[in-house]
Amino acid sequence: MSAARQVTIIGAGLAGALLATLLARRGWQVDVFERRGDPRVHGYAGGRSINLALAERGLHALRSADLAEVVLDKAVMMRGRMVHFLDGHQELQRYGRDDSEVIWSVSRGELNITGAYAQFKMALRLAPGDAANIRDYADFVSRLGHAGEALRLSDQVIALDPLSISSYAIRAAVLVNAHEYSEAVRLSRDLQRKSPALFDWPERLALALLLLGRFDEAQHYLDISPADSYDHLVIESALLVRTGKSAGVPSRIARIRQLYGDAASYQYGQIYSQLGDSDRAFSALDHAWQIRDAGLLKIKVDPLMGPIRSDPRFGALVSWGL
Ligand SMILES: Cc1cc2nc3c(=O)[nH]c(=O)nc-3n(C[C@H](O)[C@H](O)[C@H](O)COP(=O)(O)OP(=O)(O)OC[C@H]3O[C@@H](n4cnc5c(N)ncnc54)[C@H](O)[C@@H]3O)c2cc1C
Repeated sequence: MSAARQVTIIGAGLAGALLATLLARRGWQVDVFERRGDPRVHGYAGGRSINLALAERGLHALRSADLAEVVLDKAVMMRGRMVHFLDGHQELQRYGRDDSEVIWSVSRGELNITGAYAQFKMALRLAPGDAANIRDYADFVSRLGHAGEALRLSDQVIALDPLSISSYAIRAAVLVNAHEYSEAVRLSRDLQRKSPALFDWPERLALALLLLGRFDEAQHYLDISPADSYDHLVIESALLVRTGKSAGVPSRIARIRQLYGDAASYQYGQIYSQLGDSDRAFSALDHAWQIRDAGLLKIKVDPLMGPIRSDPRFGALVSWGL
């Protein structure tokens, strides 16, 4: 196998992701560039919110990447479409001759989590010392609440790649998800003082300070973060609630709606949770679930969900087996 076999793939859609997987398995060094955000972080772009229909061609591709089993485990068989006539009778129009010719329906949200585990494990096997792989996996498991593993992995990332902002950014995120707010503040402030070029997460630091009740300092870091990012607007709303200025929150919600619309359903849930408005929070989170909003991935560890965590509806929402 030649060490010089390298390829760059533009686009991590179905074709790009599969090709990258198959080439990497054959020993190629593959770099993939994707212009859309990570759907686990930013939600789905392009409105593909309904279930994915998987037919034989897709299954063939998944088999070639050893992923068919893990995906079919989450799939529901669709034999055909049911036609409802005006006189009330129904007729099944089969997709194929019999049950050997069917398509499969898979929830995109669940697919991402199941598939993500499988892909992360595979990536770590293929390139065990790759800091970016370990960093992404640390982020993933941290959102699912595996704090110990995430902290250990983020230590490893910093040791492997100590000059990258991302290494420290993920460490700070892992600390916040582990509810180690003082430690997140210490790390961020140390970096800001000693190596300012390695610090660029003022919103995350503002959140940690807010959760420690250090409101003036939280406001300072919000002031230096991009005003229209949804993290900024959510944390600012939480700060307004905690400083007795809830009257300012509706204008922030309106701004998020104007900028991000339904894609910020999880964020509306966070803000209504902070306001103690459980009904609105669950209505937003139900919608987030319907559109498989990737923000839900961190619902178990999200400190902003504190006020609604003991509600039985919360338990129902997180019982999807993460
Ligand atoms: C609403 C909708 C629903 C669908 N539902 C199904 C379904 O249920 N089942 C099914 O089998 N098929 C479905 N399809 C079709 C399926 O999505 C496509 O057949 C499939 O995505 C094609 O794969 P691809 O890799 O060729 O392209 P894409 O999946 O579109 O991937 C191309 C990728 O390249 C990225 N890209 C483009 N330009 C650049 C650039 N300059 N730099 C970096 N990245 C770039 C894009 O962001 C994109 O992620 C659906 C399509 C749509 C629009």
